[in-house]
Amino acid sequence: MGMHELLQKDPELWDLFCRKEEYQSPLRDKHNRFPYYASSCRDIFEPKASEYLVKNGYKVEYPEGKPFAVCLTHDIDGVYEPVQDKALRALKHGAHARFSEAYHSVKQMRSKKIPYVNFEDIMELEDRYHARSTFYFLALDPKDQDFSYNIKDLEHELGTIKDRGWEVGLHAGRKGSSDLDELKNEKKRLEKVINNSVSGCRNHYLKFVVPDSWEILHAAGLSYDSSFGYADCTGFRNGMCHPFQPFNLITGKSIDIIEIPLVVMEDSLFDNYMRLGPDRAWEVTRKLIDTVARCNGVITFLFHNYSFVGEQRKFYERVLQYCAGKEAWMTSGERIARWWKQNGKI
Ligand SMILES: [Zn+2]
Repeated sequence: MGMHELLQKDPELWDLFCRKEEYQSPLRDKHNRFPYYASSCRDIFEPKASEYLVKNGYKVEYPEGKPFAVCLTHDIDGVYEPVQDKALRALKHGAHARFSEAYHSVKQMRSKKIPYVNFEDIMELEDRYHARSTFYFLALDPKDQDFSYNIKDLEHELGTIKDRGWEVGLHAGRKGSSDLDELKNEKKRLEKVINNSVSGCRNHYLKFVVPDSWEILHAAGLSYDSSFGYADCTGFRNGMCHPFQPFNLITGKSIDIIEIPLVVMEDSLFDNYMRLGPDRAWEVTRKLIDTVARCNGVITFLFHNYSFVGEQRKFYERVLQYCAGKEAWMTSGERIARWWKQNGKI
């Protein structure tokens, strides 16, 4: 019996899995997202749907007999922070400098060591724990909202990431996350730079509308997505800690895309949302890892490239250390999606 058939046997879990309440509730935050605080499901830390599946015979195996998987991801929102600051200051002080005019190419800046072009450093750190990960890059046009770097200027960096066996995915812009033509343009732009196809996506700001976002991602030709999680809280948005094929309650059909649900974003834990100190943040994270390990599931982490300094870097390394100690398969979204498809776990 497939995952959907099993879940349909329990109407309450099926509604949770499909996120029925999000079809019905008009409540949205300032980024037009359905927030955890609007959800009637208050046990976000329990993957109820996955637990039910496991209890009813759903079994997953991973390469080399690993007990569970960790999907490591990085959204690259910016690479030129110091220059951006300069541009913003200029705008604030009335200078008529347009953002794009204040932007410099990587070639000019590379010699000065740009702090956020730290992909090699991140890969070195992950490699120490035999981990791989995904870097999701914006591929915006200079006139787009949120444009902060030109993807063409990162050709060298993207080549290195791919050559080393890490994944380059698409970080869909705010418009692209809800506009099919725009999403296709962004995907094409990125594919041109890497001279290869892109299979995975994460939406900027974790913008996500159930079920429309999945339909758009599928129509744009993406194989998997990892945007589905809450910004305002860590945990399991639809009770799943396994990748799954979404189901559209309006059309009554499955959507042909793999969702690898996002469980932990560092910005949720720290300053912006949950506002936890490092000890409490670790406590919450460790419990989530243990829960996913118990279900033989997949736990997805999002750590932005700007977080690889100080306490947050240490926190990330702690995650790697802990998961390595539990023999987890730590890898990219692409590899997990491929594994899921090959093993018929949808
Ligand atoms: Zn982003």
